[in-house]
Amino acid sequence: MFHSINPVDGSTIKDYPETSNVNECIDHSHQCWESYRRSKFSERKSLMIKLAELLRHQREDLAKLMTMEMGKRTGEALAEVDKCAWVCTYYADHAERFLQNERIETDASDSFVAYEPLGVILAVMPWNFPFWQVFRFAAPALMAGNTALLKHASNVSGCAIAIQQLFSDAGFPEDAFITLLIPSSKVKEVIAHPKVKAVTLTGSEAAGRSVAAEAGKYLKKCVLELGGSDPYLILADADLELAVKTCVQSRLLNAGQSCIAAKRFILVPEVYDAFTDLFLREMEKITVGDPTQAATGIGPLARVDLRDDLHDQVLRSVAMGARILLGGNIPEGVGAYYPPTVLTDVTPAMPAFREELFGPVAPLIRAESEAHALALANDSEFGLGAAVFSGDKGRAQRIAQQDLQAGSCFVNGLVKSDPRLPFGGIKLSGFGRELSHHGIREFVNVKTVWVR
Ligand code: NAP
Repeated sequence: MFHSINPVDGSTIKDYPETSNVNECIDHSHQCWESYRRSKFSERKSLMIKLAELLRHQREDLAKLMTMEMGKRTGEALAEVDKCAWVCTYYADHAERFLQNERIETDASDSFVAYEPLGVILAVMPWNFPFWQVFRFAAPALMAGNTALLKHASNVSGCAIAIQQLFSDAGFPEDAFITLLIPSSKVKEVIAHPKVKAVTLTGSEAAGRSVAAEAGKYLKKCVLELGGSDPYLILADADLELAVKTCVQSRLLNAGQSCIAAKRFILVPEVYDAFTDLFLREMEKITVGDPTQAATGIGPLARVDLRDDLHDQVLRSVAMGARILLGGNIPEGVGAYYPPTVLTDVTPAMPAFREELFGPVAPLIRAESEAHALALANDSEFGLGAAVFSGDKGRAQRIAQQDLQAGSCFVNGLVKSDPRLPFGGIKLSGFGRELSHHGIREFVNVKTVWVR
């Protein structure tokens, strides 16, 4: 049984029974693929556009469900549904072009590359963006002619079921998208099934290692979108107002539970004091409370155990010499709340630097120079996103392109995902890419055809 618990007050929203016929679902998905893979792009496009329409039409209800199951603020939940509609229309409009045959001159009378769907793809997804994570995988995967199985995080079963319903209501063949309510311990069996051709996981490093090992055992393709500890570098000539505004926004979006949130603030000596003052002032203004209220800055975290893990990271860092400038305490009362927290005197040995902080905790790190700031930024096992703030756009661009070790590097802006740009990490943040033309080519057979 899966329990959906409202993180606002710990009340049970609903219990969901486990899927009992997993093998049958896999068979159905495969059978569906046998015919769906032959459907025309124009047919898939109409379905995807219908899906986008349904998302827009039901945005209030879907947002409400997300907020109830994982505590996301209503405004953020509505924006998430809208972004899902965007990725559906984006791939509806562009998939055919991204996957059209590529002619290549050789000794053949005709030779070309074709992109053929692989088959049944398993997606293991996290709770933090319970709709977006699924749609950014599913829209390209289904436009490419694959079918999908979803194993969603155990605390968002309501969202998982709603997503399956949306695909069905949009008119996709009944088994083109199937939600499996299974515990993570059963993911191995699904990967092992001969009719499952590939797997994608968005989640923690530990889950990534487990899924990659299983995919490796059966020699199946996998894409991993894992955690991050994105550095935000503030250089001496940065526009501090812009930097502070962006850093606060990036740290607190989704109550800090985003893979590409700003997680380490690396400051050169020239800006350390001024940035700290301004940053603290902005963080102090943030109100914590009911995620359905428009005035709320951050709602609860998704689960009490995750909140307690975050607090433990703060305490372990403090024990090693970090100082709390703001927050750092678990509020009294019910709910998985944690206040905006600012730590200073953070050094590379501390959990606040080394580990991913999945919540509203901001470690401020003093660099001795710009070169040291860069070394600190790259001194991480993660490599998802990074941002650099500087008045010299050209220099910052060179740093972003040549020096920062991450999948996405932004200059004077917030690291964000966008259907038009590839998204993914290096190092322990994973491999493979989602979104853009790169994303849709992950789950296809890049097939060479040679004709005499
Ligand atoms: P998680 O605990 O790893 O869970 C993610 C998914 O993996 C859930 O469906 C979970 O199922 C499943 N899972 C957990 N352990 C597994 C295992 N050993 N084998 C197979 N499946 C397993 O992560 P989370 O706490 O939900 O999400 C937060 C993490 O996701 C953070 O590290 C965040 O940075 C990362 N994330 C990355 C991206 C990206 O694009 N790079 C985007 C969003 C989030 P259960 O719920 O049943 O355990």
